[in-house]
Amino acid sequence: MVGKPEILPDVIALLHGTISNNADELEELDRILGDGDHVVNLLRGLGVLQAKSEDLVRTDWSGAFQVIGLSLMSSVGGASGSLYGTLFLKMGSVLKESELTTSGMADAFSQGVDAMKARGKSDVGEKTMLDVLAPVAQCLTRLSDEGAGRNALLEAMANVALEGVEATRNMVATKGRAAYLGERSVGHVDAGAKSSQVMLCALTDFLVDEA
Ligand code: ADP
Ligand code: MG
Repeated sequence: MVGKPEILPDVIALLHGTISNNADELEELDRILGDGDHVVNLLRGLGVLQAKSEDLVRTDWSGAFQVIGLSLMSSVGGASGSLYGTLFLKMGSVLKESELTTSGMADAFSQGVDAMKARGKSDVGEKTMLDVLAPVAQCLTRLSDEGAGRNALLEAMANVALEGVEATRNMVATKGRAAYLGERSVGHVDAGAKSSQVMLCALTDFLVDEA
């Protein structure tokens, strides 16, 4: 069982702290390839979620993800707000139907990432956050189907996220603001891919049982 969403306030605080700790690098990346507002966007969204922490723990995972999705959609102006909003809205609707197991969560995440692809009209290889999130979704689905344990899943998630962000360095951006730079976007990792990776790695560190 994945458990109740009582952990969400701590996770949101963790992600807020993680983005703050990596703010300089993330802001610089979005300044080089975009408009420099990525950190402000993420912190605004996470701040709104922190303010709603009490509502989140009063509901189930499906309800909590729907509140998160709607909050991100309405509070974060940038592309990242609508994309992350889409991810959580879809996960919320999938979890209404499916069982709350590790593989149910992996499946919900996978369907959420597919919804992001549709929303962004984008896919892997376009130098975006999807270059981290899509391989992570694929890996989680595969490992949970194989019956891998929770720590193995979390550690694989961090490793795949690190590979994903690094892969964006030599890609030419074809979506989002970085697409205006064309070939000049090569040589830096994508800000949205980097922020996804630092959040996923922080989640792994937080959730892995040391026992
Ligand atoms: P904005 O681009 O509107 O300023 P942010 O700076 O918050 O919004 O987010 C930028 C990130 O969003 C990019 O680094 C990229 O990872 C992601 N992104 C932008 N457009 C798309 C898209 N169409 N599909 C997937 N991801 C995208
Ligand atoms: Mg931006």
